[in-house]
Amino acid sequence: MGERGILTVVSGFSGAGKGTVMKEIMGRYENYALSISATTRKPRPGEEDGREYFFKTVEEFEKMIAKEELIEYARYVDNYYGTPKAYVVEQLEAGKDVILEIEIQGALKVKEKFPQTLLLFITPPTARELRNRLKGRGTETEDVINGRMDRAKEEAEGMDQYDYLIVNDVLEECVEQVHQIIQGEHRRCCRNKAFIKHMKEELKGE
Ligand code: ADP
Ligand code: 5GP
Repeated sequence: MGERGILTVVSGFSGAGKGTVMKEIMGRYENYALSISATTRKPRPGEEDGREYFFKTVEEFEKMIAKEELIEYARYVDNYYGTPKAYVVEQLEAGKDVILEIEIQGALKVKEKFPQTLLLFITPPTARELRNRLKGRGTETEDVINGRMDRAKEEAEGMDQYDYLIVNDVLEECVEQVHQIIQGEHRRCCRNKAFIKHMKEELKGE
């Protein structure tokens, strides 16, 4: 057993399929807790406040920053996005594996604050497929899609700072890979110090 939950950051170009992968993982396995971010962007059709995001005004968001309620925050294509701290800390302490689905600037800030964070990058197999998925989602205008493709070019520069790269081609395989990587992480000796200590003590008594 690991001592406490593992904090995992999942990043990837908008349209890579992160949300889809997360939904599958949450439906399939029980030990994960998905952090819900705050954002100033408007809800997409079908999104609900408190489910996909906590939708905030700029004033409300800036108040959260001032009160240090966020682990990190970043601006992404004209909006603020940030991770509320309380939930993450509480769930990790309860032994849950917490997943943050956030962009790269935020990911690196989280890693700085919590060096044991596992950084995963999800990408579609090709750039063309990325554009197709953004179009296929049908929730953004052509302009917004172009903005997101531009942003993807910038984000690609940071891909090699992540611990693992996962190609979301066949959804099923991608979901299993994410799960296996996080479970593998639990087995690292540096995350099992209490067990090691206990075993050493037991052996002394034999
Ligand atoms: P993100 O959260 O990374 O922005 P989404 O989860 O919204 O991406 O996925 C973008 C679009 O791509 C959605 O329409 C989704 O149904 C589709 N999609 C996700 N994963 C796959 C996949 N493995 N193969 C084909 N389409 C996918
Ligand atoms: P979207 O508008 O498509 O939901 O999200 C846009 C981008 O913001 C995605 O790359 C998503 O991962 C990122 N994002 C979502 N929540 C947060 C957050 O709390 N902090 C940061 N830094 N990025 C976030």
